[in-house]
Amino acid sequence: MRIESVNPATGERLRTFDPERAPAVEAKLARAAAAFRTWSRRPLSERAEIVARAGEILENDRHAFGRLMTLEMGKLVGAAADEAAKCATACRYYAEHGEEFMRPEIVAASADGRDAICFEPLGVVLAVMPWNFPFWQVIRFAAPALVAGNVGLLKHASNVPQCALALEDLFRRAGATEGVFQTLLIGSEQVAALIADDRVAAVTVTGSEAAGRAIGAAAGAHLKKSVLELGGSDPFLVLQSADLDRAVEMAVKARIVNTGQSCIAAKRFIVADTVYDRFAAAFTAAMGALVVGDPSDPKTQIGPLATAAIRDGVAEQVARSVAAGARVLTGGRALEGPGHYYLPTVLCDVPPTAPAARDEVFGPVAALFRVAGIDEAIALANATPFGLGAAAFTRERGEADRLSRELEAGSVFINGMVASDVRFPFGGVKRSGHGRELSLYGLREFVNVKTVRMTGLSA
Ligand code: NAP
Repeated sequence: MRIESVNPATGERLRTFDPERAPAVEAKLARAAAAFRTWSRRPLSERAEIVARAGEILENDRHAFGRLMTLEMGKLVGAAADEAAKCATACRYYAEHGEEFMRPEIVAASADGRDAICFEPLGVVLAVMPWNFPFWQVIRFAAPALVAGNVGLLKHASNVPQCALALEDLFRRAGATEGVFQTLLIGSEQVAALIADDRVAAVTVTGSEAAGRAIGAAAGAHLKKSVLELGGSDPFLVLQSADLDRAVEMAVKARIVNTGQSCIAAKRFIVADTVYDRFAAAFTAAMGALVVGDPSDPKTQIGPLATAAIRDGVAEQVARSVAAGARVLTGGRALEGPGHYYLPTVLCDVPPTAPAARDEVFGPVAALFRVAGIDEAIALANATPFGLGAAAFTRERGEADRLSRELEAGSVFINGMVASDVRFPFGGVKRSGHGRELSLYGLREFVNVKTVRMTGLSA
C-alpha cells in the first residue's frame, strides 16, 4: 500500500510516506490508551476550550489548510477554505454545547431523587476517513468525540497524508496533550488488527460500501461499537409545481459539489413528465457551460477528480451505462493531458440496470429520469440500495409533507440541496450505513449511556 500525495491537477507526485510498522502503531495505541485516562478525567470545560482553540486555528489558517486540500485532492480553492471554516464552526458548536449534551438527565423514579442517565466517554475511537472532505470528515468525528472525553486515532485515506498530519498538528497546537489525537499513516489492511485490539473501544468509518462492510464485520467480530457513513445515490426530484429556474440552479450545484465527489451530491434527477423537457434542456446547457480547470484558479467550477483511478472508474461507469442504452447529452469523456479531469456529463434514457442508475457515480455525472408524477417519482427515488439524502422540488405543501415521510433517506430537503450542518444529525439508512454524526446525536454515538440509580445515602 502506497501512502502518497499526488497533485490531481498535474499528476505530479509530491510526497511519499512509508506506512508505519507494527512497533510504531503499538506505541501510538499505548499513548492513546494512556491519554484517555487523563483526558477523560479533565473537566469538560477544559476539553471544550482545546477544541474551541482548534476551531480558532482552523478559522485563522483556513486559506493555508485550504491550499493543502487543493494540492492533495484537487478541491476548488474557495471551497477548500470554506471547508476549513466549516470545521471551525463545528469545533465552536461542540465547545459551546458539550456541557449541555453530556449533562446527566435526572429521572424522577424514586423519593431520593438520585436516579439519572449519565453519559461517559468510551475510550479510544478509531476513525477511518475518506479523502473527499479531508478536514471536515475528520473534524466532525473528532470535535464531539474529544469534547465528550474520548481520544482519537485517525487512519486517513492514503492519498491525503499531508492533510492527516496537518490535523494531528492542529490538535497539538490547540493544546491537546500527547496521545489525545494521533494520525496513523497506515494502509487499510492494517485496520482490522487495530479494531481487534482491546485498547480500541469503537470505530467510525466514512467511505465506500466495501470499506463499511470490512470495518463493520471486524467491529462485529470484536463486539465493538461502530458508526458507518457510506455511499449514496441521492435522488433529486423535480415535480410539476417546482420553481424550475431554482430547481435547475440547485440541480447543477447539487451534482457538481466537490466536483461530484460527495456522498450527498445529487446523482439521479427524477423529473415529472410535464416539465422534463424544459428541465433537461436548461440543466444540460448549464452543465455544459461549467468552467473546467485548475482548482487553484477561483474562476474554476470543475476541478480534477482526486486520483487517476477515480477518473478511470467514472469513465468506465459512463461507458457501461452508454453500452446499456443511456445517451450522453453533454460531456461523457475524460480530458487528455496531465491531471485527472472528467467533463461534466448528463445522461438520459438510463436503463435501471446501468451503473449510472444503480451504483454511486463519484464524479460530475448526472443521470436524468422521466416519471409520470409523484407516485412514480417516490418509487424510483427509493429504488436504490442507498438511503443517504434526498432533495425534492415542489410548491405544494401536501406533496412536501408526503415526500418528507416517504423518501427513504437520512435527510430530506424540500426546495434545497442536501447539505450537512453541525446542528442537524447526518447519516443514512439502508446500505448508506448506520449511526449519526453531528448534533447531539453525533456526540452520543461514542458515549456510554449509563443508568445510575442511588438510594439509601445519608444526606
Ligand atoms: P474508501 O475507498 O472506502 O476509503 C475510505 C477509507 O476507508 C480510507 O481511509 C481507506 O483507506 C479505508 N478503507 C478502504 N477499504 C478498507 C478496508 N477494507 N478496511 C479498512 N479500511 C479501508 O472510500 P473513498 O473512495 O476514499 O471515499 C469515497 C466514498 O466515501 C464514497 O462511497 C462516498 O459516498 C463515501 N462517503 C460517505 C460519506 C457519508 O457521510 N456517508 C461522506 C463522504 C464520503 P485507503 O485510502 O488506505 O484505502
